[in-house]
Amino acid sequence: MKTFCGRANPTTGSMEWLEEGEDYDYHQEIARSRYADMLHDKDRNVKYYQGIRAAVSRVKERGEKAIVLDIGTGTGLLSMMAASAGADFCYAIEVFKPMANAAVKIVEKNGFSDKIKVINKHSTEVTVGPDGDMQCRANILVTELFDTELIGEGALPTYEHAHKYLVQEGCEAVPHRATVYVQLVESRRMWSWKKLFPIHVEAEDGEKILVPPSEMENCPGVPSVCDIQLNQMPSSDFSTLSDVVTMFSVDFSKPVQSASTYYRVQLEPVKSGKAQIVLSWWDIDMDPSGMINCTMAPYWVKPTSALQWRDHWMQCVYFLPREEPVLQGEKLYLTACRDEYSVWYNLQKAREGENKADEEEHKADVRVESPVCRCRAHLLWNRPRFGELNDQTRTRQYIKSLRKVLKTDSVCLCISDGSLLPVLAHYLGAKQVQCMQPSRIDLYHPPELWQAFFKANHLEDKIKIIEARPELLKPSHLEGKKVSVLVGEPFFMTSLLPWHNLYFWYARTAVSPHLASNVTVLPQSASLHMMIVEFQDLWRIRSPCGTCEGFDVQTMDDMIKNSLNFRESKEAEPHPLWEYPCKSLSDPLEVLTFDFTKTVPQHCLSTEGSVKLLRKGKSHGAVLWMEYHLAADISVSTGLMQLPDEKGNCEWNPHCKQAVYFFSSVIESEIQSDPTAVTYAINFDTKTGEIAMDFKL
Ligand code: SAH
Repeated sequence: MKTFCGRANPTTGSMEWLEEGEDYDYHQEIARSRYADMLHDKDRNVKYYQGIRAAVSRVKERGEKAIVLDIGTGTGLLSMMAASAGADFCYAIEVFKPMANAAVKIVEKNGFSDKIKVINKHSTEVTVGPDGDMQCRANILVTELFDTELIGEGALPTYEHAHKYLVQEGCEAVPHRATVYVQLVESRRMWSWKKLFPIHVEAEDGEKILVPPSEMENCPGVPSVCDIQLNQMPSSDFSTLSDVVTMFSVDFSKPVQSASTYYRVQLEPVKSGKAQIVLSWWDIDMDPSGMINCTMAPYWVKPTSALQWRDHWMQCVYFLPREEPVLQGEKLYLTACRDEYSVWYNLQKAREGENKADEEEHKADVRVESPVCRCRAHLLWNRPRFGELNDQTRTRQYIKSLRKVLKTDSVCLCISDGSLLPVLAHYLGAKQVQCMQPSRIDLYHPPELWQAFFKANHLEDKIKIIEARPELLKPSHLEGKKVSVLVGEPFFMTSLLPWHNLYFWYARTAVSPHLASNVTVLPQSASLHMMIVEFQDLWRIRSPCGTCEGFDVQTMDDMIKNSLNFRESKEAEPHPLWEYPCKSLSDPLEVLTFDFTKTVPQHCLSTEGSVKLLRKGKSHGAVLWMEYHLAADISVSTGLMQLPDEKGNCEWNPHCKQAVYFFSSVIESEIQSDPTAVTYAINFDTKTGEIAMDFKL
């Protein structure tokens, strides 16, 4: 079956109708899936295997047959472990059809077809009985249904159902229990992902301070989880205000309740400070004794044990509804509220001489509804974007360049989503300022937010929002004037890959008739940069596994490879590289430039060449990013922040995702005296806005 899917092209902005076979989605899902990452997670695999062996032995010691229910079998791995450990029979449930098919093949290849029955169903659809999917209820329950937030993938309702209908009372569960830990911290860096800080602007007529509207101050933000590689957050970027505290745990061997609830713990800060953030992670005990433990604890919690790198489970950052000054030794209550799929936090101070009755009253205060953004800023700006807008160094670059190009009679048009440039341009003396937020018009365009924002800064009537797409701009929108300064960050919500923000160039082209002949465009140009790298760990997510704990999972590798090749040209994928360290193996290279002072040309822009490998290492792929040249000598980079050091260590822009093109084979340059090179061909098709690339090692 073919379907037509309509979408706006992120680079050109034009509406496209793509004919997609029904296979398309699942290829995307598999190509970008975490299966490879899970299979490379040695620590997880070894501990599951130990836990499964122990559970099978316990059941056998009781003289019972070991009947296993494996919910979400994926490749069939955990069922194969159970079968090898001596289980009598395994029911392997998998809802995702392509995976269930793969599991059948893998189970067969490993010789377990008579012991493992793969059932392509959601576990809640599975039936038990003589004619059912399962002959009888299982006495061992094995699952791996956890995300970084533990419950975000629906583990609780799945367990709740399984205990009611699919497993025996007193069953063994692997994992046996999960425990969620928290630590209260102060961190300007992480707090800057939720709040807009005041922005200081030196204007001709004195210092101006741009402040967020009061609605933003106490807004709880959005409920979506903020999961990051906390191990990449240097200890200098936060300060711990409490010890690590156990927040709650779930015993998977007993009936599980998924209904909304809350957990409360008492805390005493170990240090005075501003409570802003709750950092959280979990661990799982594979057996009841707690001897087989798999933990996501970050580096400062267990500094002696070796950290297992993984991307499928990381750590969570929760933002308190408001910042709370706390004193060392004071009595605090931290509440974790949860519904079926997500968790959020609240901090309360215990009142002086609190007694039991007050404590009960406190409980009644607990907010059980999940956070909903009331100020609308959290719908307009996501967390990295908040971080970017709060980046003072970046803002200063824009102020410096605006100051160079603005005059008192400037008619300024800004094209960027949710940008503060129009306010800066006004403060810096532009006579007339208009702005367009192209991606926001039809979807969430929040005029109330801007009204509140302008009101808080006495900017009503000073800045006009044009509610039209660039190609529909009319002279009346500009009060009959021509634009003398066209600005953009550029930033658009629809951008996934760095070059998608080239939409600014297309918008600039569309508004050309409205530009004065001597118009200044800021940025004046952009350039695409590239560097060959060796990843410390990220390579795992796209690397074949072959065998996993002795089981042949090559079918899975082939399936991923096939999905990656589904589109003729392999695509680059976005990753925030501050979370994924790599070593540069080549110098960074400027590969293409885009001249915003001119309109988008009809012809393609292409380049080819070769780049020398300077260091020993494995070439896992190429990293690509954009740099914007705001004015003479002033550039901002969305990728490398400075040249790599002598060892090749890189510092990446902490607010942006860079593009990563993984090479299909890895070369290892061993001998420095014999430098190898990577040849590349890169083509920017100005009609489709797509960048195609090819690398030869
Ligand atoms: N057990 C495998 C794969 C874990 S990934 C391993 O440990 O390597 C989780 C898998 O569970 C996914 O393939 C997902 O499609 C599946 N899944 C999640 N919830 C499910 C449910 N309730 N019923 C059936 N499959 C489920």
